[in-house]
Amino acid sequence: MIGLISATAAGAAARDRLAAAWPDRTRVYEGPVGGAVRAAFAECEQLVCFLATGAVVRLVAPLLADKASDPGVVCVDEGGRFAVSLVGGHGGGANELAVEVGELLGAEPVVTTATDAVGLAGLDTLGLPVEGDVAGVTRALLDGEPIALDAEVPWPLPPLPFAAHGTHTVRLTDRADLAAGGEVLLRPPSLVVGVGASRGVPADEVLELVEAALRDAGLSPRSVAALATMDAKRDEPGIVEAAARLGVPVLTYPAEELAEIEVPNPSGAPLAAVGTPSVAEAAALARGGELLVPKRKSARADGHASMATCAVVRRPARGRLAVVGLGPGARDLLTPRARAELRRASVLVGLDQYVDQIRDLLRPGTRILASGLGAEEERARTAVAEARRGQAVALIGSGDAGVYAMASPALAEASDDIDVIGVPGVTAALAAGAILGAPLGHDHVSISLSDLHTPWEVIERRVRAAAEADLVVTFYNPRSRGRDWQLPKALAILAEHREPTTPVGVVRNASRPDESSRVTTLAALDPATVDMMTVVTVGNTATREIAGRMVTPRGYRWQEGTR
Ligand code: SAH
Repeated sequence: MIGLISATAAGAAARDRLAAAWPDRTRVYEGPVGGAVRAAFAECEQLVCFLATGAVVRLVAPLLADKASDPGVVCVDEGGRFAVSLVGGHGGGANELAVEVGELLGAEPVVTTATDAVGLAGLDTLGLPVEGDVAGVTRALLDGEPIALDAEVPWPLPPLPFAAHGTHTVRLTDRADLAAGGEVLLRPPSLVVGVGASRGVPADEVLELVEAALRDAGLSPRSVAALATMDAKRDEPGIVEAAARLGVPVLTYPAEELAEIEVPNPSGAPLAAVGTPSVAEAAALARGGELLVPKRKSARADGHASMATCAVVRRPARGRLAVVGLGPGARDLLTPRARAELRRASVLVGLDQYVDQIRDLLRPGTRILASGLGAEEERARTAVAEARRGQAVALIGSGDAGVYAMASPALAEASDDIDVIGVPGVTAALAAGAILGAPLGHDHVSISLSDLHTPWEVIERRVRAAAEADLVVTFYNPRSRGRDWQLPKALAILAEHREPTTPVGVVRNASRPDESSRVTTLAALDPATVDMMTVVTVGNTATREIAGRMVTPRGYRWQEGTR
């Protein structure tokens, strides 16, 4: 429970917003603040005091006992500008609470403890399985002691302040070793296990074989990234279930492709039966790597007719390219997944204004490669090149990075030797739609009016098609200083098929501090009021303005009527 304490009217107003947002998590303490703080301190896990830090320091000082058990205390100032984590930053969760309260009230979280001040999140948040002395190494990291990185396997990691020699070690390894004292093991997904099997093989037989192969070779099952086999075995229940129990996907390849792969232990029997001299070894080696365990066969003592084979390969390190949409602007429209990917990256590539938008979320040590407008192709090439070098790269774009943005130029450059992770973002059309009302309630399209990359004839043809098909249209890149006639022309084409009174929504800087929006009509829209920070959404023939909002009916009734 979070105890809420306030003294003034402004404090009480902010307190009530918190209480309304978290009805089940909060309890309001009324009355003189001294007694209220004492009661809340005794009864709650956390306190939010809408009081000066000085006042709160004096009130809680006599109550403090132990940082492991004391509640976390957050102070919010009279102006609601700051949410200060005062005591219990880690144990009491005040740091996280300050961030949450800050997000809710629009206040800046103020956090002064070491870990968070330098942005080092826990070793268990790096995106890899972790074993060993996590608490000890984290403490050493916080205390600024040198930590050495021992990377037996090269793997794209987030930035951490590693030293050449350390009192503690982070070891990146797929070996089944136990962690030594003062050591943490990170498990990269570096192993691929190729499997072959006769039809009807039991999952237990496959699992036992795989586990024995890993055990005998001293390899950790937690580093297994996938089982690999041939296409024809894609649905073999024993393989599918074994993979599920290991928590990994099944990768499959066509027999012809496997037949081409050179393996140490080919055999005539499968060649005749399935069209390749090797399944387990070839599938494990299909994407390259080093064969650590050559083909082994299951040996069942019970004379069962089934049979499985397996082989283990350490695959080459794969760089990681995350293509991350940041949303339209507001921090709370950035998805948690996008935030995690930004913290996962050791290299960030993006347009300088977008980098500024999220700079505070990056881990310290993240290499930032920012460039100006117009350098799209160069940014795409840089991001892919860094990933190929084995880095964890985040390539960012506003809204959704796949919508008129970096994803397509980047993926046009990328080969299959890197992992690509797409993180969707709230695109401008959706952000604007939510502000305008419900303009996208039925079929709709987006059209960019920028003729820098697309000939105007093509754009015009698409506008015409949208006009004829009665689609709601959202124009991106509607108008800039050098491109001022395209929007009037596009609106004129729509006006050939829609009434002058058709609602048009204009949203500038959706979700940014200087957001503005209005609903007007096709006839009344003055294109000179539109710029590059704006999207323009034109309704279809069914769109109405209702109570100042733009609403496009879903059209079920229309469909029924015409059936
Ligand atoms: N990837 C972006 C679009 C990039 S194209 C996305 O998914 O939103 C750039 C155009 O997007 C701008 O010219 C403008 O038309 C529109 N746009 C982007 N963000 C916007 C915002 N916050 N408010 C209004 N329009 C925006």
